[in-house]
Amino acid sequence: MVKNDNDLENRRDRLNRYQTNGLFHPYTCGSEDCRDILTAEVQSGQLVLVCPSCDYRQTKIHMIPSEELMKSHDNIRDNLYNRRNIKISKYLSKILRHQPERIGLVLDENGWAVVDELISKSGMKMTPQEIEEVVRTNDKQRFSFNEDKSKIRANQGHSIEVDVELEELTPPEILYHGTATKNLDAIHKNGLLSMNRLYVHMTDDFSVANKTGGRHGNPIVLSVNTTAMLADGLGPFFKSKNGVWLTKEVPSKYLIFPNAKES
Ligand SMILES: [Zn+2]
Repeated sequence: MVKNDNDLENRRDRLNRYQTNGLFHPYTCGSEDCRDILTAEVQSGQLVLVCPSCDYRQTKIHMIPSEELMKSHDNIRDNLYNRRNIKISKYLSKILRHQPERIGLVLDENGWAVVDELISKSGMKMTPQEIEEVVRTNDKQRFSFNEDKSKIRANQGHSIEVDVELEELTPPEILYHGTATKNLDAIHKNGLLSMNRLYVHMTDDFSVANKTGGRHGNPIVLSVNTTAMLADGLGPFFKSKNGVWLTKEVPSKYLIFPNAKES
């Protein structure tokens, strides 16, 4: 016989996914003082819900979820999870980079916050597991933990004065800075300034710079002649944990503008 969605084993597996997916109320034990979540089993050719804590069992199962329903549950859960993850990530950025005082949090001089304190002072309910998940899955590695995960900090992008123990390094000869064309006049005049951040951000990857520029408008990528800067005693350059190159400021004479056709 061909296996299909209505095989006992498949129905049992779907029921158990339904019982544990946390979205809808599961079948629970009928004993008044137990109410534990039941587990689906196949017993003598029949689907049975059994209690893991007592001897309660029931064979009457008024609804066995279809494969389609279970797939839609999974989608709902993934969406909720992603939205939650993004929300926490944005919140952590705001607090750990810019406004710890907003919740009465004090970062130490290296930008570290105590995780328990962050959770208890936060207006947003977060669990340590959710924070760990955000740190682990953030594709730009915005945050890191100390060794025992009791402290957390943003890796860069602070607008408050903290020293994130950046590694001072000799940069490649050329670094890239992505911006929008509308900023070019100001950059010609003033060079690259850290503005409301602590450092000017640069990358050794042209395409990353182009993407960054695109977030602010019509993108343009400027090249930074780091060799000339260092020769003139400017710098130093730092590399953050997530690979961003940083320096305090880049005067415009060390910048190479593409399409230098204007005057
Ligand atoms: Zn029970």
